[in-house]
Amino acid sequence: MLEVVDLVKDFGGIRAVNRLSFKVEENELLGIIGPNGSGKTTTINLISGVLKPTSGKIIFQGRRIDGLPPYEIARRGIGRTFQVTQVFRRMTVLENMFVPAYASPQRRSDREIRRKAMEILSFLKIYHLRKEYARNLSGGQQKLLEIGRVLMLDPKVIMMDEPFAGIHPKLKLEIHGYIREMHREGRTFIIISHDLQTIFTLSQRLIVLSGGEKIYDGTPEGAKEDERVVEAYLGE
Ligand code: ADP
Ligand code: MG
Repeated sequence: MLEVVDLVKDFGGIRAVNRLSFKVEENELLGIIGPNGSGKTTTINLISGVLKPTSGKIIFQGRRIDGLPPYEIARRGIGRTFQVTQVFRRMTVLENMFVPAYASPQRRSDREIRRKAMEILSFLKIYHLRKEYARNLSGGQQKLLEIGRVLMLDPKVIMMDEPFAGIHPKLKLEIHGYIREMHREGRTFIIISHDLQTIFTLSQRLIVLSGGEKIYDGTPEGAKEDERVVEAYLGE
């Protein structure tokens, strides 16, 4: 479904991503881990079009998407959440949900957009907050809203950057459950996490980055016994 080939991203003299290649199959749940600064967020920024690669290719459903603007990549079916949650603080929860739908060239009626927003807010159990301003939500609730907004465009692939960072353990379990449920419904996931325990239980497959390079690609169990992976994490 998604293929990254020899991806490179330089920031001045720093090579954040170094000749990274991997594939993601349809309905896979892929975890990406790696020490701080290993290139995880940069990789997601490249795939979602927030950053342009220095070189390399990104192919989604048989077509190149590298270099396309973020809205076009989102329109084709790749959604993402951010490491630092991004919601429109001066808008209500419901208004936040409408933004991607109205920004999309895909034509849908107001009624259809509303119905979809209500359905997603119910799924994420924040329907009761629909009229609340986003700035009044807790950090965790804002995270749920961000996930909700991503779902408005009905993405085939959902990329999440540290969805479990800095949240209450109860909410962590909740988000874990939502990811599993959406995965069962057929969506493909790429999840970056520093929370090793959670990512080990959640992922079907794990990629480990270190210094912008892929040092492991395989089962979560195998990663625990891999010498290079263990070494990369010793410093942490
Ligand atoms: P991770 O998400 O794995 O912690 P990042 O992808 O954020 O790592 O960063 C990888 C490397 O690229 C780091 O050395 C970081 O300092 C550098 N980097 C990331 N974004 C930028 C940027 N916009 N400008 C300069 N350097 C950056
Ligand atoms: Mg990061």
